[in-house]
Amino acid sequence: MSLLKCEGVVLRVRDFGEADRILTILSDTDGKFDAVARGARRPRSRLVGVTQQFSRGNMLLFRGRSLDTLNTFELISSYPSLSLDVAKMAYASYVAELVDRMTGERQRNELLYALVVSTFEALDTGPADLEMVLRAFEIKFMSVSGFRPELSRCVSCGASEDEASWFGPEAGGLLCDRCRSVDAGGTRFSAATRELAKRLLLWDYNKLAVLKASRDSTVELETAFRAYVDQRVGRKLHSLDFISDLKSMERGGR
Ligand SMILES: [Zn+2]
Repeated sequence: MSLLKCEGVVLRVRDFGEADRILTILSDTDGKFDAVARGARRPRSRLVGVTQQFSRGNMLLFRGRSLDTLNTFELISSYPSLSLDVAKMAYASYVAELVDRMTGERQRNELLYALVVSTFEALDTGPADLEMVLRAFEIKFMSVSGFRPELSRCVSCGASEDEASWFGPEAGGLLCDRCRSVDAGGTRFSAATRELAKRLLLWDYNKLAVLKASRDSTVELETAFRAYVDQRVGRKLHSLDFISDLKSMERGGR
């Protein structure tokens, strides 16, 4: 039986059998895969505390034909506030679900792994503007997954970015007035929103706190990225309902 040693984060946890858990893991060297943590729901198991959603650790696994078996899990971080703060939990769940949905099995992608770790860190301890972290994650994630949107010219005719004030989710980037009709789902994308999107793509999370975004840009960005992500994911993500419920509760509470 062969062994796999890797670092990984837990994207998803399901109960299995009487006392086991099945984990969906994103690893640094082996991409995404499922593994069984035997006895992990027993109170005295050494895996009970560490095999939680979002946990990051060094793992040793026995490779199986269809499913690997987790032998040890040495915790690096559990990102505690992602489980304690309901808003952070909602956002981290969206990150985990989007990555799980869009990533194929066993496809090594070190940039993706580093992105997920830095996103969990940013949500756990970073700047308070969770929405901005999420927009940054969306565009960074689409880029490391091979769907980097075109933000420097019209994706259809190549006109300069100054002439392109629309974003086409299906076209995959900016569109000018003349080409706007090629994408029925196109939405308004001003120059300020475009510059914001470029910064979100390139900047580290710890620099985002200095960004000042207008209400219009925030809305344009959210609308455009939501459509862009949905276009590629296909089915609706469950975690989006969680986030919208939270938002309507916040509005009701004010
Ligand atoms: Zn054009």
